[in-house]
Amino acid sequence: MRRIILLGSTGSIGTQTLEVVASRRDQFEVAALAASGGNPALLAEQIAQFAPARVALADPGAVAALEAAVAALGVALPELLTGPDAATELAGGAADVVVNAITGAAGLQPTLATLTTGSTLALANKESLVIGGRLVTEAAGAGQLIAVDSEHSAFAQALRGGRAEEVRRLILTASGGPFRGRTRDELASVTPEQAMAHPTWNMGRVITINSATLVNKGLELIEAALLYGVAYDDIVVTVHPQSIVHSMVEFCDGSTLAQASPPDMRLPIGLALTWPDRLPEAARPCDWTVASAWTFEPLDDVTFPAVELARRAGRAAGTAPAVYNAANEVLVDAFCDGRIGFTDIADRIATCLEEHLTQGHVGDADLSVDAVLAADAAARIRAAELVEVAS
Ligand code: NDP
Repeated sequence: MRRIILLGSTGSIGTQTLEVVASRRDQFEVAALAASGGNPALLAEQIAQFAPARVALADPGAVAALEAAVAALGVALPELLTGPDAATELAGGAADVVVNAITGAAGLQPTLATLTTGSTLALANKESLVIGGRLVTEAAGAGQLIAVDSEHSAFAQALRGGRAEEVRRLILTASGGPFRGRTRDELASVTPEQAMAHPTWNMGRVITINSATLVNKGLELIEAALLYGVAYDDIVVTVHPQSIVHSMVEFCDGSTLAQASPPDMRLPIGLALTWPDRLPEAARPCDWTVASAWTFEPLDDVTFPAVELARRAGRAAGTAPAVYNAANEVLVDAFCDGRIGFTDIADRIATCLEEHLTQGHVGDADLSVDAVLAADAAARIRAAELVEVAS
């Protein structure tokens, strides 16, 4: 029986994790759940179904609604932790696997707290790895940090096909998002609704917008470099609109190993829950009786500059990735609220990043959690100023 602490239980990854768990109650037990408080009714249903011993709510203002929702279902409220540090406290508890499926930089402290324990960290919250950088990789024990992202799960699976010194390049696949094939000028007037219409994946709001801008691919580029110790020059992004090949590893003899399966996060979630073993029937395989075509094309870096910006931030390392991420979080909110245009997101991330690299950048050698949090806070203020200028 594996005991699971699930952070971000009411989100897209969180609910899919609970789907995996629900069909295998003899293998998994839910020890604790954490959410922000945005959907108390769903959290109450999860409490009723999985009976966790502890629950964390980031927003104390949501406690009354959760108490009412739990009472309406006729179940007792488990031990309740509240406030911004509640998920971090949960993450430091006893478990076999902690799934971090919180969105954004708020996932950093829970990630670091998990890594101080013996629990495996099944990491969906790529932002914490990206901004924490070597603070996260150095805190992780051997095999303790398992990526949930389908691309990084694909890398992990393909990397089992050769030795580290035999790896030549990582090929990171991108669906291209809803605006693939458009020009930069055509993107100036797209709406949040259009950006939310992802062609192959059904995900939370921030990652869906990030998939449209390709910021998500930028974060994944940094995630791949940190997780697998591959140089930025040796990670290539290719656009694969079908989202069947989740990424590939090229080896020194010219062989490329790809991991393929229909787009379904339950596969990488299941693998992360049981790593290094596979979880039987986690998801449907490809249907080889039906004619299909897989295509690959280069990324248009002029229309979608976010990946090259991430490469710049990743190479600079230290606090630069935190700035890239924090500015993006503010700018995504501003775009969704109609205060800036779509192309303003990447343009203003570029401004924040360049300014940071000129002044205030802390390199990897001097990196600390305080430096990351300070860079994150400063980037949010600067990005908000740039939104004001635009609106
Ligand atoms: P969602 O927005 O759907 O869900 C986010 C979850 O985090 C919600 O449960 C939310 O609670 C909770 N949350 C937010 N802030 C806090 C906090 N401070 N403390 C505790 N809980 C909090 O996001 P996704 O599930 O789409 O994405 C989650 C992470 O997984 C992201 O890092 C994303 O990049 C990554 N990811 C997602 C994929 C996907 O297919 N969705 C694929 C690969 C990676 P509430 O509902 O109460 O607000």
